[in-house]
Amino acid sequence: MYDVMILGSGPAGLSAAVYASRAGLSFAVIEKDYMGTGQIVYTEQVDNYLGYFGIGGFSLGEKFREHAEALGTEFIEGEVTELSRTDSGWKILLSDGNNVESKTVIYALGASPKKLGISGEEEFSGRGVSYCAICDGAFFEGKTVAVIGGGDTALGDALYLSKTAEKVYIIHRRNELRANASLVKKAEETENIQFVPESVPLEIIGAESVTGIKYTQKGTEKNMNTDGVFVAVGSLPNTSLLSGIADLDNRGYIIADENCITSADGLFAAGDVRTKVVRQVITAAADGANAVVSALDYINK
Ligand code: NAP
Repeated sequence: MYDVMILGSGPAGLSAAVYASRAGLSFAVIEKDYMGTGQIVYTEQVDNYLGYFGIGGFSLGEKFREHAEALGTEFIEGEVTELSRTDSGWKILLSDGNNVESKTVIYALGASPKKLGISGEEEFSGRGVSYCAICDGAFFEGKTVAVIGGGDTALGDALYLSKTAEKVYIIHRRNELRANASLVKKAEETENIQFVPESVPLEIIGAESVTGIKYTQKGTEKNMNTDGVFVAVGSLPNTSLLSGIADLDNRGYIIADENCITSADGLFAAGDVRTKVVRQVITAAADGANAVVSALDYINK
């Protein structure tokens, strides 16, 4: 029986590991991906994590991992398929049939990319439709791509793709962008990036692979030729395991404030999975620390 079982090895989970180690607790981190570091690997450059201006997302994730490893973190590879409350804590079932028991759980499973839900999206997934510019951008060298969305991810993706693609369109449903001002300025200053505002995607079209996208701009239906569509319209919290276990809001986020305490006894939520205003690496890392303090308090009581 562990004191704390940390689910997820993104910034929230790895920060929780550092704090759990420093608190002298028995703990482990369960991760689905070998040597995982969470969604941060999908960000080319991070300019707003204190002390690491301009660092690559992959490198920052590696540093988090090295830190947790240096403090003796045990990693368990596996996908959590079920969580259940026992008399003494929590039982965590893994997809390989094994299970582990712990007095408390820190739930830090992050989020997954949201889909557009339009025709052609599923059909051309992996054949021109992508949710990860860093993973798939190289396939579009010298080609035209469209990025859908107006947030930090969309603009970061567009900037990344602009280095190799010939032309990058940013199709956004409103006239105002949600992304931070410095990303907007960089994108505006990049010659081969063109904004397509007030435009709602209708259908992704193609044959063997994507050839274009149909959208409406201010009510008028239009077609754009493009070789690739990068969907960057936000993410959905990975909280399906908690249905009926902890209170979630209407968008599926675990209801918890910065002390990370959830409605379920001994279950703490850290990072992008919980209700919060600012979803950033730095706030996820802060949650990891707070969740361990709350878990320790719970164990001591
Ligand atoms: P986001 O901020 O939620 O932005 C999603 C964008 O997609 C919005 O512009 C939204 O339009 C648009 N959108 C949503 N659903 C759509 C649909 N069905 N059709 C067309 N457009 C749709 O998501 P994100 O950009 O992935 O960022 C998530 C969080 O991670 C944010 O807190 C962000 O700051 C953070 N992040 C930080 C960094 C960094 O610091 N380097 C990098 C990436 C992400 P509306 O604007 O009209 O709602």
